[in-house]
Amino acid sequence: MLRLLLVFALFSFAFPFTSSPLAQGASTDIFYLVKPLLPHSAALQVSFQYRSNAAGKLVLRFENNSWGDRDLFNCLTGLTVSPAPQSIEMLPDSSLIKIIAQPNQELQVRYAIRQDFNVTLKNVHRYRPIVQKEYFHVLGMRLFLVPENLFQSDSDSARIEINWAAPAAGHIFHSNFGPGLRQKANLTKDMLYSTFFIGGDFRRYSYSWKNQTIYLVTRGNWSSFTDQQVLDILKATIPAQMVFWKDRLDAPFSVSLLPTFEEWTDSSKSFSLGGSGLLNSFISFSSNNPGTELKMLRWLYNHELLHRWIGQTLVNEEEEKQYWFSEGFTDYYAYKLMLRNKQISLEDFLDVINKEVLAPHYQSPVRTLPNSELTQQKFWSDRQYNKLPYRRGLLYALLLDSQLKKKYHGKKSLDNLMKNLMAQAKKSGDFKFNHTVFQDQLDTYLGSAAITEFGRYILQGNWINFEESLPAGLLLETQKDIPAIIISPLANKKKLADLLGK
Ligand SMILES: [Zn+2]
Repeated sequence: MLRLLLVFALFSFAFPFTSSPLAQGASTDIFYLVKPLLPHSAALQVSFQYRSNAAGKLVLRFENNSWGDRDLFNCLTGLTVSPAPQSIEMLPDSSLIKIIAQPNQELQVRYAIRQDFNVTLKNVHRYRPIVQKEYFHVLGMRLFLVPENLFQSDSDSARIEINWAAPAAGHIFHSNFGPGLRQKANLTKDMLYSTFFIGGDFRRYSYSWKNQTIYLVTRGNWSSFTDQQVLDILKATIPAQMVFWKDRLDAPFSVSLLPTFEEWTDSSKSFSLGGSGLLNSFISFSSNNPGTELKMLRWLYNHELLHRWIGQTLVNEEEEKQYWFSEGFTDYYAYKLMLRNKQISLEDFLDVINKEVLAPHYQSPVRTLPNSELTQQKFWSDRQYNKLPYRRGLLYALLLDSQLKKKYHGKKSLDNLMKNLMAQAKKSGDFKFNHTVFQDQLDTYLGSAAITEFGRYILQGNWINFEESLPAGLLLETQKDIPAIIISPLANKKKLADLLGK
């Protein structure tokens, strides 16, 4: 029986994680009006006004190829500009639309966003606009045409207002800002891109935690778990991670969960889970078939929520060059914190490291790829390349954590190094995570030998030697030519679980 596990990339997007609401009465730099045409038509109608420059030019950006998706201009239809300009030029290759009109002319821009695939929703579609008669789910970066001069730089923010028409009877509306139809915020371009909007036949749940509201929005009939079980994961995960990072929510937090339809028959059993950490929120997608289990969703939610800190506060300087950290360390901490908080057992923890990380990494044809050769194109187009930074980074985090606990006799761990990085990031407004910043930490905690190992294991991509670095109670064993970490027969399991989760 073929059993195919597809766990897709869990991308983190870089942006400061707070948005400041505008003072009442402040003017806006841009005002988008969005009207879902559901349930009569499967489209989202968008309009806004913007002035051409002194030369009569208005250049709009719409990312045509990003996050592994291509040809997103296919989703953009019915573009009209009034008063009628001299020309409108669609330039998908550069993700731009060039409008030539009168100098300094106020222009009304209208268009619609549609779904551009006709098959049942699959995980692979998760970042494309999903717009059907029953519901829609769309990212800000897939919905808004953004005037090029709205943001002068990556750190520049604009006062943005978005108004949504009321949903049809029986439908709901929700976004990363909460249930309100009107959003008004100061956002950078990355923050605007990292918004999400949904509407239609969703179910919404909410609860209050430390004066903020947490929302879960989902739809469909789940076969492997109930809405309440998903909500319970959030209720356990959010406080546990907030306590770990000594952080708090400063805005409502939203989670969306959509069912996708992967084939589950006698001959083909495939399922997938995926998600992305966005502005005060994360989105998630899971196959609605017997392959998906609640424990996979628990891992996904622990992983996605951690991106609030690793990825969003600790922002990568060069995206995929630091995925070993932003994906690998995120995955390590997802499992470590689940073990610490007794969401998984010691056996589950080791089982997942052996089956999902150590064995597939050992067998991967690209396991020794130098870090510098992991390009964006490779990461998004090939599953082996895609999984590489997750696996390599997790194994390296396990090694470092063990070395730190040994050196400091259990009084320090990788947690100290991570929290130190976090403190640095919070202190400096333009902090970027890069290899120099990380090597400084290694030098502080473990000395120059650790920097040499970093070069060997992360930069050069050599196989990590665990022989001398596993905590007491664990052994490295080769089973059918494949390495595995096992519990020593003499180990005290309770103490071992405490040590690994510490
Ligand atoms: Zn991720």
